[in-house]
Amino acid sequence: MAVVERVETAASASDARRRLRLRNPATLDPIGEIEVQTEQDVRAAVECARKAQPSWAALRFEDRARYLARAVAILLERQDDFLDVIVSETGKPRAEALAVEIFAACDALSFYAKRAKRILAGRSMPVHLLKTKKLRISYRPLGVVGIITPWNFPFILSLNPTAQALMAGNTVVLKPSEVTPFSGRLVEDLFSAAGLPEGVFNLVQGDGETGAALLEAGVNKISFTGSVRTGRKVGEACGRNLVPFTLELGGKDPMIVCADADLERAANGAVFGAFSNAGQVCVSTERVYVVDSVADEFERKVVEKTGRLRQGAEGEFDVGPMIFADQLAIVEKHIEDALRKGAKVLAGGRRNPSYPGLFYEPTVLTNVTHEMEIMREETFGPVLPIMRVRDEEEALRLANDSRYGLNANVWTRDKRRGERLAKALESGSAVVNDCMLTYGITESPFGGVKESGIGQVNGEIGLRSFCHAQSILIDRFGAKSELLWYPYTAKKANLLRGVMRFLWGTPLGRLLS
Ligand code: NAD
Repeated sequence: MAVVERVETAASASDARRRLRLRNPATLDPIGEIEVQTEQDVRAAVECARKAQPSWAALRFEDRARYLARAVAILLERQDDFLDVIVSETGKPRAEALAVEIFAACDALSFYAKRAKRILAGRSMPVHLLKTKKLRISYRPLGVVGIITPWNFPFILSLNPTAQALMAGNTVVLKPSEVTPFSGRLVEDLFSAAGLPEGVFNLVQGDGETGAALLEAGVNKISFTGSVRTGRKVGEACGRNLVPFTLELGGKDPMIVCADADLERAANGAVFGAFSNAGQVCVSTERVYVVDSVADEFERKVVEKTGRLRQGAEGEFDVGPMIFADQLAIVEKHIEDALRKGAKVLAGGRRNPSYPGLFYEPTVLTNVTHEMEIMREETFGPVLPIMRVRDEEEALRLANDSRYGLNANVWTRDKRRGERLAKALESGSAVVNDCMLTYGITESPFGGVKESGIGQVNGEIGLRSFCHAQSILIDRFGAKSELLWYPYTAKKANLLRGVMRFLWGTPLGRLLS
């Protein structure tokens, strides 16, 4: 059973728009339908955003911030309504949705509302050689930003880049995942309730076709979060259209457990890192390397803690369903491949028969190798494969033996060792004695290396990436001519040689340059 399926239209209605029907992934109950928006719809939305952009950009930061602050107040007041929609569409535990979708949304909105003015303020920079010039950097909005998002955190991953793009003076066209369109619509509801001027935020609904249309609709930046496969297509289209883009893609995050780790904390962290949001987190812990001498105890603790997790569809529970049936099929394929190649199941290892929905039991595997898909491909489900290693150096080598490089975590009582290992990891970010957190630390730049992405979001770097840093160079003294202007003469060339000899050939010059 798919949670998103095409609604068949009568043959006579051949000109009718495609429609998609959505189901709750926990109960499989229908929750609504959407109409897939066409290329024309997308172009109209971009046009609308284009018209609204100059007056939005002309507002002072304080005025733009006021809309975001109003959005925070609305979220605080209507959080339960928002949670109802997110939970019905994803099946995730309400407490988890509250923390990762709503709390994080309030933080993102208020963080950028409060700080954008400082981060994007025009700056004067000293010019190190040509003292006759003054350099100013001005952060200009790009124009219309297209934002394309996935289904695993459908509200925050749509809202967070939107908040940044708006504070930077851009207008936005958002295309949320077709698997979770109603959480995408919440972003529209929120900004419309906050009184955002018409055309500043625009929503288009649909699947890959609608997303592909947005890439071709003349936007000035694409902020994409999703899979590597789609990310490549986005990169190709943006390359062809010469549109700047960021790609926040998949991961295969490693966890390294050193011999001196606090095993109780590490085991708790492993279980949380692997199973929260049913493992459907780009920065989930997807593979563990534990040093041999502590592996027995670590495994025992992990299995015991996994056994205590409550899977469920309502009330209090820890682990919800998979959100998307196709992803569940990938989880099953990876586990079958691992078992065929000699992996052993320590916990779980099957769909949960107690529920009708897309539930897979939290699963712990051991005896795994790098010949298995479960250690090499993004699984994006509630699976924790544990591999024993001789020492930390072997752990590091295996952790880096991956085409992904999003986030990683290291566990040791020696923080210096933790930092050394973190620096040696080929990953966009890393965490010592904790896991996943990075995206939620608003100050922190976030983005993968290798196939996990291009560019970074969040923090100062992320906010500035929604702008063009325009350089304005101003002549200070108004001399009638400059050394390097016409006419070129032997005398000028000799003078230049003299300057070069001084600047890079003498101690004083090197100091001044
Ligand atoms: P996906 O790539 O299938 O879809 C993402 C979005 O792209 C959806 O809105 C989809 O409709 C759209 N899309 C599909 N085809 C398109 C095309 N040709 N052109 C333009 N848009 C198109 O990803 P998904 O399955 O929704 O999400 C899961 C993936 O997202 C995982 O790989 C996960 O790791 C990744 N992810 C990454 C981050 C991060 O910040 N790095 C965060 C969350 C999820």
